[in-house]
Amino acid sequence: DSISEELVKAIRTIPDYPKKGIIFRDITTLLGDARAFRRAVDALVQPWAGSKIDQVAGIEARGFILGGAVAHQLSAGFVPIRKKGKLPHETVRIAYSLEYGIDEMEMHKDAIKPGDRVILVDDLIATGGTAEAATRLLQRMGAEVIAACFIIDLPDLGGRAKIEALGVPVRTLAA
Ligand code: 5GP
Repeated sequence: DSISEELVKAIRTIPDYPKKGIIFRDITTLLGDARAFRRAVDALVQPWAGSKIDQVAGIEARGFILGGAVAHQLSAGFVPIRKKGKLPHETVRIAYSLEYGIDEMEMHKDAIKPGDRVILVDDLIATGGTAEAATRLLQRMGAEVIAACFIIDLPDLGGRAKIEALGVPVRTLAA
């Protein structure tokens, strides 16, 4: 449809980045396109316009940019989910697998209250490993994760099913 075509056109693809054989979706061109940026944020929030969302959780780093805009639009708070060692107060942490080895992400222990209605935001879902870990961390702290939202889905990598298996609907705008 037209919105997904517009968003795909606004996203630059970079072959062989960060290494040979990978086609990287560079969303900085979308962020720099005022109309496409607004349309993307409006489309992401559309199902929850007017409903009560307590917090938007964004995954470092591109999820911060989109998540901040989404939180503003929904009159919700914003919770950063960061790579380990970056947050100053007490944190809760979760390990997750990368292509090579494991990494950890964390958020502040007091960022979520049990029962909070939370939307998770990132720019792109590929294997789903990153968003799965973030969803588990939020659920562990008692969040009701209402949805996980991404501009781009790489459907061949099967990420969506990993998030849906945690009982969380997935919203994506383009593939
Ligand atoms: P996953 O854990 O689903 O395999 O990978 C998704 C994470 O890696 C997201 O945080 C996303 O920002 C990042 N990522 C992976 N591939 C790309 C890409 O081609 N473009 C962008 N912008 N981010 C990517």
